[in-house]
Amino acid sequence: MSPPPPNEDDVINHHDSSSVDQKRPISTIVIIIAMQTEALPLVDSFQLTEDVNSLFPKGTPWVRYHGTYKGLNISIIWPGKDAVTGVDSVGTVSASLVTYAAIQALQPDLVINAGTAGGFKAKGACTGDVYIASEVAFHDRRIPIPVFDLYGVGLRRGCSTPNLLKELDLKVGKLSTGDSLDMIPHDEASILANDAVVKDMEGAAVGYVTDLLKVPAIFVKAVTDIVDGDKPTSEEFLNNLSAVTVALGKAVTQVVDYISGKSLAEL
Ligand code: SAH
Repeated sequence: MSPPPPNEDDVINHHDSSSVDQKRPISTIVIIIAMQTEALPLVDSFQLTEDVNSLFPKGTPWVRYHGTYKGLNISIIWPGKDAVTGVDSVGTVSASLVTYAAIQALQPDLVINAGTAGGFKAKGACTGDVYIASEVAFHDRRIPIPVFDLYGVGLRRGCSTPNLLKELDLKVGKLSTGDSLDMIPHDEASILANDAVVKDMEGAAVGYVTDLLKVPAIFVKAVTDIVDGDKPTSEEFLNNLSAVTVALGKAVTQVVDYISGKSLAEL
């Protein structure tokens, strides 16, 4: 027998951090970034140093850069290079593992998932735009059985940041996540159903773990390629990657500057 369908409040968990936590100044931030090219401008901007002794299990390629910036204890976590192929460990599996391990080790007040994404021009996205994701969901977990379909979509909400959004010149939109850079028609239909303006390979996986462990999360995504445009995604992605990571670095620095000295309730 299948369980009764949940209502929306059960599906999108609200962070139940106590009001004491909400009012205390934020002190520790973990920033999850999938690619080294995306991470380095921020490592530079926050003047972070790479850990010599890893916090993480022996043999994992996971890298932490850390330091203090404007009174905040900041760690950037990059899942590192895949041991077999030597490329960045992009995608949901690595992202959820490092998010879990980093939260366990560092007990952050806030997680930021920063990275690049494909954007939909039909929804107003342009290359170089930086979005804060209001919601994250998956588009490649199709389980056509009642309620399991909702589990597959895995909708989660980003931390509410009305003041930050008022202050900073960033766009807001929904993010859809899947484990492929390309987009097959099935994915496109799910992305449309998710009402997403940007598409990546990590956001909803990070959102699953932060929701599980009740840590608020902010998703910052910079558009490297237009998914519904005429250029091949991988070509456009690689051409724009370094310029867009500079824009991403600038936006994340602005977000962190805004957070400095504030509590979650003030964001
Ligand atoms: N071909 C690239 C592989 C990177 S995968 C390389 O040679 O390095 C793409 C990364 O950028 C992922 O971390 C993903 O989150 C993000 N991304 C950028 N554009 C995307 C798109 N259109 N669809 C999905 N992910 C995208």
